[in-house]
Amino acid sequence: MNRRTISILLFFLLVLLIPPGAQAELQSRYVTLRYSNQQLLRDFNDELVLGRKLGYYLKNKQIVTVQDEVLAKLDVIIEKAEVVLDMFPANFRITVVLLPDRRAVGAMYKTKYGKTANHIAYYSLKEKTIYISVDDTKLRVIAHEIGHSIVDHYFQVRPPYNIHELLAQFTEKHIVD
Ligand SMILES: [Zn+2]
Repeated sequence: MNRRTISILLFFLLVLLIPPGAQAELQSRYVTLRYSNQQLLRDFNDELVLGRKLGYYLKNKQIVTVQDEVLAKLDVIIEKAEVVLDMFPANFRITVVLLPDRRAVGAMYKTKYGKTANHIAYYSLKEKTIYISVDDTKLRVIAHEIGHSIVDHYFQVRPPYNIHELLAQFTEKHIVD
């Protein structure tokens, strides 16, 4: 094969590999973060205010870009949530998907479960994934879903729904202390 043929083949291979509506993907220690565009990431970063105490932990991190900052914040929240719950599951890893608003979260939920729900965020046990509306993002909201994800990773036998919810609320309440 000559170089031109190889280039053309590579081009088509790339086209095949990138699905329509492709998402950017970032990795941190605990998180795979997916989002459709840079503005969404910036908005998410602006909404995600850690406060003085949690923000303090960011000082030890190497932060240059918005990407760095968002990933560092998520890792700090996860580590704090583990302390709050006193649960430190090995091999903790989740995906976080940023969606623009609650309508998009609702549409995603409907696609996955065939049911209508008015969530601003939810954690999928099956996919180990948090879907969150950037419009409605707050520390408490993401802390709640992270609480669900830690509880999910920690227990070998899934606790009853009410206990799951109680622990997520506990995380949400104490993360801001
Ligand atoms: Zn919940």
